[in-house]
Amino acid sequence: MARKSNHQCPHCTSSMSIRTSKNIHPLFRILYFQCSNFKCGFTCSGNLEITHQISPSAAPNLNIQLKTLDQISAERKASNDEYKKSEDD
Ligand SMILES: [Zn+2]
Repeated sequence: MARKSNHQCPHCTSSMSIRTSKNIHPLFRILYFQCSNFKCGFTCSGNLEITHQISPSAAPNLNIQLKTLDQISAERKASNDEYKKSEDD
């Protein structure tokens, strides 16, 4: 049974349904889409990845370690600063 999604077909802009999905990891899933317009017939796949936490869980799984957006931003800034520093050398 297909699940409705909020995704639009990139070709005809009709709605797309999720035909099936495959769980790869608790934070990563592959989705398979199909356009609802039978004259279009486009199918594709894409990824759903949980990348960071906004608010921590009250029942955390200790195997799941997600950073906050602030931590990711700080790491990217530090990495960029390091890259710029190495370019100047
Ligand atoms: Zn389409």
